Formats: sequence, C-alpha cells, structure tokens
Amino acid sequence: MRVVVIGAGIVGAAVAAGLTRCGAQVTVLEERFPGAGTTGTSFAWVNANDKDPEPYFTLNHAAVHAHHALGGDGFFPTGHLEWATGETHRTELAARVEKLRSREYAVELISAARAAELEPGLAVRPDGTEYVLFPEEAHVFPAQLLGRFLSEAREGGAEIESGAAVREIRSGSGGATVVLADGGTRAADVVVSCAGRWTGLLVDVPLLDPRVSGAATNGFLATTAPMPARLSRVLTTDRLNVRPDGGGRLLLQARDLDDAADPDVPPGQEVGAELLARLPEVLTGTEGARVEQTRVGQRVIPADGLTVAGFLDASERVYAVATHSGITLAPLLADLVAREVHGRESALLGPFRPGRFAAGPPDSDSPVLAPAAPRPRSLIPMQTAPVVAAPEPARRIGPL
Ligand SMILES: Cc1cc2nc3c(=O)[nH]c(=O)nc-3n(C[C@H](O)[C@H](O)[C@H](O)COP(=O)(O)OP(=O)(O)OC[C@H]3O[C@@H](n4cnc5c(N)ncnc54)[C@H](O)[C@@H]3O)c2cc1C
Repeated sequence: MRVVVIGAGIVGAAVAAGLTRCGAQVTVLEERFPGAGTTGTSFAWVNANDKDPEPYFTLNHAAVHAHHALGGDGFFPTGHLEWATGETHRTELAARVEKLRSREYAVELISAARAAELEPGLAVRPDGTEYVLFPEEAHVFPAQLLGRFLSEAREGGAEIESGAAVREIRSGSGGATVVLADGGTRAADVVVSCAGRWTGLLVDVPLLDPRVSGAATNGFLATTAPMPARLSRVLTTDRLNVRPDGGGRLLLQARDLDDAADPDVPPGQEVGAELLARLPEVLTGTEGARVEQTRVGQRVIPADGLTVAGFLDASERVYAVATHSGITLAPLLADLVAREVHGRESALLGPFRPGRFAAGPPDSDSPVLAPAAPRPRSLIPMQTAPVVAAPEPARRIGPL
C-alpha cells in the first residue's frame, strides 16, 4: 500500500514509523523541516493526568503504557511530582486523585520527607502542602523521539521530503493524489494528514484558532542556561511547572502567564524574568539562573478539545489525525493509525472520529466562528474547515 503522510511533527513521524512496520510504502511530505511545528515547542510530559471524558483518559493512559513499552533514548520514566499549597489547588488535587484511583491510574500521596528523598533539590514548602507522585508518568525530549520515529521510518523504506508544501488533496474511489506548491503531485492509496495546527487548511476538521483563543492554545516555555539545580522528573506546582531539559537546563512553564502569549509577538524579557523569579520557590541551587530562550508554543486543539483520528471520506482515501496530546499519544497512534489505514478499526479511536463535526463545530459553550483566518505561510486549501475561537473553558485543558 502506498501512503503519503503530510507533516513531519511527532504525530506524522510516529504514524510514518507505524505504517512502515505494517509494510506500507511511505512518503512523508513536510513543508518546512521535521519538528518545525508545535513539536518544537512542547513541554512534552507524558501523562493521562487530567484528561476527560473517560474515553480520552483511556486513550492517553494506553499511550503512557505505549511509551514505557517503547522506552529508549529521550524517554525519561522518572514520574511526575505535584504539590499543592493553595486551598483551591489542594481541593482540586484531592478530587483528581480520587478520580484517577477509581480509574486505576498509578497515584501515591506522599509525605514532604518522601518528596525530599525523591527530589533532594526541592525548596522547603509551608506546612499543609500536599505532595502526590504519579510514578508512571514521564517526559521526553521531543526532538530525540522525533528522530527515532523518522529513522525507523527511513529504515523501513520511507522517503522523507522536506520543503514539500501540500496545497491540495484529491481523492476518489481509485486512490488519492496530493498536489504540491511547486505543482508536483504524489499518488497514494491513502493520504494521512498530520499537519498539526494547519490541519484545517487541508481537510475538513475545525480547530481552535490560536490568534483568538488566547491561553487555551498559546503558551510560553522558557529554557534556562545549564545550572547546578537538582531535578529528575516533571514537577508541577501552584505557580510553576518545571522539568529537566538536558545538560543541566530546565524547562519552565506557568499557565497563569499564558494569556499574554501571542504567537505573532516575540516574548519580552519580562516573561523569562517572571518564570525565573518563581524558580527559587520550587528548587534550591538556582542562584544565578538565566533564561536562554523563551518561546510561544501553539497547541493543536480540535474544536471540542479532543483528539481527531479517522477517515474523512466514504472511500477511505483520506485520514486525518489532530491532537493536543500529541507527545503523549504518538507511540500509540503509530500503531493504531497504521492498523486503521490497513482496514483494522481500533475501538480506542472509535470516540474520536472527525465525523462528529459534520453538523459544524460544537456550539454548546458557543465557540464563536472567527473571521476568516489569514493564512499562515502561503497555503491554499481546497477545503477550509472553520477555525473557531476557544470556548470559555469549563475545565482547564490540562497543565500542558
Ligand atoms: C506549550 C505547549 C506545551 C505542550 N505540552 C505537552 C505535554 O506536556 N504533553 C503532550 O502530550 N503534549 C503537549 N503539547 C502538545 C504537543 O506538543 C502537540 O500535540 C504535538 O507536538 C503536535 O504534533 P503534530 O505532529 O500534530 O504537529 P506539528 O508538530 O505542528 O507538526 C505538523 C507538521 O506539519 C507540517 N505541515 C503543515 N501543513 C503542511 C502542508 N500543507 N504540507 C506539508 N507539511 C505541512 C508543519 O510544517 C509541521 O512540521 C504541548 C504543546 C504546547 C504548545
């Protein structure tokens, strides 16, 4: 079977690897270069910690296990430690722990002394702080995982073309053709769109619009210079999320700052300064810490917040995947999508079909149709799905 995969982010790379495992002849078409999209700006925490409704939790939980099974370079199965000091956070954490236990998710309430044993670099917290360990959670270095999937795909015979911008997908019962910006075409039995936040420009799947949705889709990430702080796992707290980023660097994130994140405006120094100012509240040994780089990441969020995976057409020539848990889901999607492309439906993906948007984007909490999106770069879609503003979040979209 000939399959064209559009996009070489973590999702496209994983799907390409999975397809070659199934014996498909794969071509990956990437407009810029592998990792050029959201995958290059991810906190990359592998978890099913705050994922609802239940089918979405189940999918992410299976994906956490898929990461452990894959293991290898760039995967750090060191768990996640969360602490809650403020009353609102403590109440929310207690309810979440109870729900996760009922879902048979690995959760341990631990003492301050045990937390300090696990992470000797933790700053001392006030009495009453709750500590919870999620031992199965993990983090990855996205570029490394991306490289693994791409090299596996190449070894399986895949061709990976950078600088290949897809403008149009044509499909019919006899097959599919993608048309490139330079006028070239590629024929396939099946085309899999893994175009991340550009998905709506190629196929009929509505996504939240990063230009109008604010903190739901846009987020700051700051990378420190190497420093002698000690941290071995993802740490989330009331005011700052931190994880190791290799070579003594830390990756910092604070969701309450994200309202100011604008993908069109380079972050000012004040963002890094604020994140750094919070660091000593969390870790010792951070004197003299510097931020090397602050970036704005743009999440890939289908209009109802959940993953999209499935065929778009009755003749099953065009398949789309779009998800805001792409790092967590990648190793699982590799297998499930490859099998679905070969005609073996996955029950886990059943609740996430693109057909659910057939009547238009969800309007329960009234996402407002945004004005026509100015096209990022120069894509000219044949079909443009509506791009929608974020609904007022009824719940937070997870501490990603
Ligand atoms: C701040 C932040 C924190 C996050 N934290 C986490 C986390 O902790 N855990 C987690 O699981 N997820 C997290 N995510 C989400 C995760 O990073 C994304 O879901 C994932 O990276 C999406 O990967 P992708 O391959 O779908 O998209 P992308 O990485 O954007 O890849 C899409 C690729 O398609 C290419 N493309 C687009 N259009 C075309 C075209 N027409 N022709 C050819 N190529 C095209 C693009 O150039 C791009 O390279 C986070 C995201 C952000 C922004």
